[in-house]
Amino acid sequence: MKYISTRGQTVPKSFNQALMAGLADDGGLLLPQNYPQVDAITLHEWRSLSYAELAMQIISLFATDIPKADLQAIINKTYSAEVFGHAEITPLRILHDGICIEALSNGPTLAFKDMAMQLLGNLFEYVLERENRYLNIIGATSGDTGSAAEYALRGKERVNVFMLSPFGKMSDFQRAQMYSLQDSNIFNIAIKGMFDDCQDIVKALQNDHAFKAHYHLSTVNSINWGRIVAQVVYYFKGYFAATNSNEQKVSFCVPSGNFGNVLAGHIARSMGLPIHRLLVATNENDVLNEFFNTGHYRPRDAAHTFVTSSPSMDISKASNFERFVYDLLDHDGEQIQQLWQQVASGQGFDLSHLMDKIQHQYGFAAGKSTHADRMQTIAQVYAEDNQLIDPHTADGVKVARQLREAGEIIICLETAQAAKFAQTIHEAVGNSVEIPRPDNLAGLEDLPQHVTVMDNDTAAVKQFVEAQLGE
Ligand SMILES: *Cc1c(COP(=O)(O)O)cnc(C)c1O
Repeated sequence: MKYISTRGQTVPKSFNQALMAGLADDGGLLLPQNYPQVDAITLHEWRSLSYAELAMQIISLFATDIPKADLQAIINKTYSAEVFGHAEITPLRILHDGICIEALSNGPTLAFKDMAMQLLGNLFEYVLERENRYLNIIGATSGDTGSAAEYALRGKERVNVFMLSPFGKMSDFQRAQMYSLQDSNIFNIAIKGMFDDCQDIVKALQNDHAFKAHYHLSTVNSINWGRIVAQVVYYFKGYFAATNSNEQKVSFCVPSGNFGNVLAGHIARSMGLPIHRLLVATNENDVLNEFFNTGHYRPRDAAHTFVTSSPSMDISKASNFERFVYDLLDHDGEQIQQLWQQVASGQGFDLSHLMDKIQHQYGFAAGKSTHADRMQTIAQVYAEDNQLIDPHTADGVKVARQLREAGEIIICLETAQAAKFAQTIHEAVGNSVEIPRPDNLAGLEDLPQHVTVMDNDTAAVKQFVEAQLGE
């Protein structure tokens, strides 16, 4: 299997090369030349597999340059009950009205990013060892991505992680989760500024070519192909858990921001998984909701991006969206290049003439959820089903209930646990309600924290990295 760019200007790469490259050299995103097709017999055989077995079957179709025994070992180590706190890895439950919830949030940081990042960490370790290389990851986070990356890479020998976060802007839980790590390869840097300032520093260091080359700088952002492929697995797993025959179809409802999660659903559907519809749920930052209802893509700038109570979806430029549009435009790299030039210049684009294809051939629909909807849904699920769902998952449940057709089986993806967002949950159900949390995280906020606070100053961050790495 070879990987090409959505902008059509790169030589085909192997899986390992795609994994280490992140972005394609022509500024596009990497994609397999075609999606492997799963026939009825194979789908039947896969129904009875464990999560790790299923992951092996699916990922080995894409990672064709890793010997099978090695890949199996990496997958077994990643998708275990110890790491994900549950033998089924992504257990499914059903609300009283028949809406299914598939938990993707049982990993070390209680959010779905662990599903892919844990695999990526182990794949990085393997490839670096095999190629005798070293990497320094530098990233910026407002919460979930940074902690998932740190928990995936902590203690790995050939990788250091420098993670910038805005000083004083994360929840107590998120802060404790990141800063309590004591591993010598993890460096937390709190910048006296906003998330955008952190991101600007990371970009400046990535564009400092001499510095980047000398220190082997890299990133682990959401456009990495390795993350997408890992996410395809739980669409198959959820489908098997919610049905008892491959004659049935299901729909998935996905709380979305960067379009990474639901893109994996689009790939699963393209491979032949019997998915009826893919329901994209957004919060007040509704760029994707607008596109899937009108065909107009109008990304907003930072000044027009709202801060909401489902913060991991506060995104107005969906970085993985380009991969879907590439399929929608029948792999026309030149047109993609033009459209994304328009996006870069602050305009969007109009594909309203393709609405029929978007909704019927590709099965997409979308809805939006606001703070009031979120509060109401969290309170409703607590009252009717006696369980707490996190604010992002609540956006999904709200949209699923709004768009559901008669007889439609909908699986809502649970992208985080309520424990991560205690303040919002208490606002919805009252302060007296106790929010459950995994035993191993009791007292997390009381552990000693390990962080370097710095001014919003690129030169100072650069000096800090140099001082830690030597030379
Ligand atoms: C990242 C994240 C999302 C959004 O996922 P995308 O792949 O960016 O669409 C939703 N919910 C939670 C809790 C997240 O961490």
